[in-house]
Amino acid sequence: MKKHVSTLLYFILGFCFVFFTGLSTTYAKPKRGEKPAPISSVNNPLEMVKPFSNLTADFYDFVLRYNGRLIPGKDLQPWITKIQNSAEDYFNSIGVQYELQMVKREDMEFQGSFIEKLSYPLFIISGVSEARESNGQFFEKVLSDSRLQSLKLVFDPFLPLWSGPIQGFFEPSSNSLYFSVTALSYRTGGLGDTLEHELLHALENENLLKGSLTLAAITLMADQRTPEVYSDFLRLDEIETHLLDIEFLTEQAPQLEENVLDKGSLKRLREERNKNLEFKKETVQRLLKNSLKYLSKLRENINTIAMNCRADDVLPLRVCKTSEVAGESYDKVEIRFPATPQTDLQKMKELLDWSLQRLSLYQRAF
Ligand SMILES: [Zn+2]
Repeated sequence: MKKHVSTLLYFILGFCFVFFTGLSTTYAKPKRGEKPAPISSVNNPLEMVKPFSNLTADFYDFVLRYNGRLIPGKDLQPWITKIQNSAEDYFNSIGVQYELQMVKREDMEFQGSFIEKLSYPLFIISGVSEARESNGQFFEKVLSDSRLQSLKLVFDPFLPLWSGPIQGFFEPSSNSLYFSVTALSYRTGGLGDTLEHELLHALENENLLKGSLTLAAITLMADQRTPEVYSDFLRLDEIETHLLDIEFLTEQAPQLEENVLDKGSLKRLREERNKNLEFKKETVQRLLKNSLKYLSKLRENINTIAMNCRADDVLPLRVCKTSEVAGESYDKVEIRFPATPQTDLQKMKELLDWSLQRLSLYQRAF
């Protein structure tokens, strides 16, 4: 199997190009007694993203061949062109318009292969016409949402080269939602929905800025990080984005199996989906338990500990910090909110009471 090296690594990273590289076009759902009708791959969302997804997988195979070495710029250049063309073809095929914005990144390392510098265009999503499949519909929904008019949707074709094993992220300081090709193929194949996950972070950030009660107001941190995810940094709305992921993997994802034209890959797809689901469930349980413990202790002691409050460096908010309350998993907290007529202490108590109640509800329901 040509892609076995990168397949293994992508699994370790949590990527999953493999399901989108070996799919044939023979899957049909015949009714009893009927001849199976050939299903066209036209307008099949998984088939539409496949050429781009495959090319990206080939690119990381190429990158990994330089294990321990620097990749010369002249060897990278053809890939930048090919990947840009493939991204343009993909977005055109799903009716998505974009503007290109050059970016230059330096000193990157991917799994032991090094890149000194790389200049390439980011795709800033600017419009959608006649969305026919789910990725296009997602962008259409976001662009027409009055709450999200300043949100920037940024497709970075080389995201894994510089951001590690993630498929996307929301950056509050620039109000940008970044995503990779994996995010696009996962949601059409039902393996995860990074776009909706990050969008919920963006919406909670809007709530935070306008002064609504939100779990995004509270961030827990720890000096020591453990191998567990979010062990050193947890903004509490992460719990809600994970609950959304669980809903996607349970409710919508099984229905997306009809996009898979090759029955042979369904077994592995289900296995991988269930693995993701179990991981998300374990993560939510752990985050709920640890954050409830920490917040309860903080709430008990809030009148007597020193909270250092000032203007936030990045967002137009106040931020109150302390490292005087140490839980088992976290030992620092930051609480953010817009300036209000209330005192900082009153506001923090309100936010803590509300968050404790909300998290307890989730814990009981989960
Ligand atoms: Zn998240």
